[in-house]
Amino acid sequence: MTKETTGPLRLLRETHEERVLAALRTQGAMTRAQLAERTGLSRATLSSIVQDLLATDAVTETAVDGAARGRGRPVTLLTLNAAGGLALGMDLGHRRIQVTVANVAHEIVGSAGIACSERTPWARRLELALELVDSLATAHHLSLAALAGIGVGVVGPVSETGGHRQPSRAARIGLVRDGLTDRFGLPVYVDNNTRLAALAEAIWGAGAGLQNVLYLRLSYGVGGGLVLGGHLFSGAGGAAGELGHVSVDRDGPRCRCGGHGCLERYVSLAAVLEQCGVRRFDEVLRRLSDGDESVRRIIATAGTRIGAVLAAACNTVNPETVVIGGELAAAGNNLLEPIRAAVHQYAHSQVRQGLQIAPATLGNDDAARGGIALVLRRSALLAGYPASASGLPPGVQLHDIG
Ligand SMILES: [Zn+2]
Repeated sequence: MTKETTGPLRLLRETHEERVLAALRTQGAMTRAQLAERTGLSRATLSSIVQDLLATDAVTETAVDGAARGRGRPVTLLTLNAAGGLALGMDLGHRRIQVTVANVAHEIVGSAGIACSERTPWARRLELALELVDSLATAHHLSLAALAGIGVGVVGPVSETGGHRQPSRAARIGLVRDGLTDRFGLPVYVDNNTRLAALAEAIWGAGAGLQNVLYLRLSYGVGGGLVLGGHLFSGAGGAAGELGHVSVDRDGPRCRCGGHGCLERYVSLAAVLEQCGVRRFDEVLRRLSDGDESVRRIIATAGTRIGAVLAAACNTVNPETVVIGGELAAAGNNLLEPIRAAVHQYAHSQVRQGLQIAPATLGNDDAARGGIALVLRRSALLAGYPASASGLPPGVQLHDIG
């Protein structure tokens, strides 16, 4: 900071700087043009702020490969200084535990996962996750003192207000939150792991850089997540995006949620395996590649059902892209084409204009990455202005521009 050191002008400048830093923290690397669009700042104001942030090493700049313009300065990407802090993401899923660490520049520093059983108690899952964190820290020479927070994905709805219909669910979330708070003494953010996968796909994956992303996960359970206006949308009770429990046949079979004829009853992994008469999804994929017509039809019918539900959801939130994740997405165009056809048939013309329907691109660490994104968005340890060592873990100097 070189000018306007007191009074309203300084405050205004701090607000503008916060806006720039927050945009880079939540969205990752951006060009000046993208940053101007995202922050709404004029080119002149942005240029002056970026100059200061570069001078104090709060922000770094790298040239974009092969993207030099004919005239003027080459296109460069601005990003937060990677040394500004670390975020830890965890996914405590039904069958897998994953931990991932990233820095504030959105670079993944390390990731590790381990399979678990659906019956693994939650206290044991947490222990396993903490063992993975320790092994990652050793393998990558990470100082956990540089962590600014922990974002955790768990199965089932997670309410911001802590109110849950099932006491066991609230107890499970409490156990995870308390265990991590005791261990690290840092902010802990817990959310549904499918919703976190949605956020991760909107930052690092198939919806990267987009503000309105509808995510659907087709796995043993069918769930979804909404990123609207760049924000993860939870809903009043933490259950937004439960597309698997949209009823597609009111006279259909009873669902585990208590409803009847839910989408999940027809298109979950278990339902599709049963319809195909096989035990493993690799077998479904093998039959598809062998040209098995009955399996192709089963997948196509699933795609049409999914597409009809997605069309209604798209009419409701008008996303830029729909991202399809989960094991079933491996069926590729056998599934995606019927989904696209049904959305095209049932969605409003304005809604489907320019709408992309794409497979997810992230792997097992999607929800853990979403946890990282929560930390980067919410941790007060990263959002302070002007940064001072007081609010940060030892050794972390974020943007030393005071
Ligand atoms: Zn249901």
